[in-house]
Amino acid sequence: MTLVRTVGEVRAIVAKWRAEGLSLALTPTMGALHEGHLSLVRRAGSLADRTIASIFVNPSQFAPHEDFSSYPRREAEDLALLKAEGCDLVFAPSAEEMYPEGFQTSVSVASISQGLCGASRPHFFGGVATVVCKLLNQVRPDFAVFGEKDYQQLLVIRRMVRDLDMPVEIIGAPIVREEDGLAMSSRNAYLNADERRKAGALNKVLAKMAERLARGDDVGETIHFARTALGDAGVASIDYLEVRNALTLESAGSGALTAPSRIFAAIFLGKTRLIDNWPVEPAWQHAPR
Ligand code: AMP
Repeated sequence: MTLVRTVGEVRAIVAKWRAEGLSLALTPTMGALHEGHLSLVRRAGSLADRTIASIFVNPSQFAPHEDFSSYPRREAEDLALLKAEGCDLVFAPSAEEMYPEGFQTSVSVASISQGLCGASRPHFFGGVATVVCKLLNQVRPDFAVFGEKDYQQLLVIRRMVRDLDMPVEIIGAPIVREEDGLAMSSRNAYLNADERRKAGALNKVLAKMAERLARGDDVGETIHFARTALGDAGVASIDYLEVRNALTLESAGSGALTAPSRIFAAIFLGKTRLIDNWPVEPAWQHAPR
């Protein structure tokens, strides 16, 4: 496994692989890797001849009050994990390499970036789209793998790639969870024991919501039930809890679901913000015709 820190080095290695006719798959990450990230690297390995992972804590997707400086950084451990997965190349650039002096371009994906995480983190998807666009241009992979853990992000990137005619296939991979169902996240490390226990309620409430919605329950009533259940589990602060169309992210409205949907939640436990989401199919047999 080779570690490089400059765009020039990435391009040289990728050019050599391309000349040999090899296919490439990229997994972008911010490091502090866990089993969720590694599942993406494995997926990348199953898709292409060579796998590349990037590790870059992207400053432009954090607001000044957010956790950029405290975000966990564990490069040595990350490299050992990636090597054990058979990753071929790691690109871990500095902020100066990614954003040299004079940098002034940004990529903005309009409506699908609004609402959910875009509402509470207005700077976020612009930062993500810009850095992912750069990484895709730097590496020029055939495939790029992203987790459904950040479902809105996955849709934003799919939209960007389609809109800008970028020659890459975006692959979505399922959420990897802890034993109690908590979605794995580098930010779970911030939780104290009490918060960690409460965090385990989130996925269970989403699963119950999915069950109710799948049998035809009213969306508004189901959200009300879930807010109460989260409160009972000690989750005092909910950023959002919504049901939206799984492809367009349009709000599901009221009544029974009529289209494949996704339940989205963001909660605060202390200062830590956690997100999760859950798929739900409409109860066609109950839907009014
Ligand atoms: P991050 O390092 O948090 O920016 O995440 C890098 C990639 O890993 C993104 O595509 C995430 O959606 C994905 N990812 C993070 N956590 C998980 C998880 N628990 N399961 C699957 N993918 C994940």
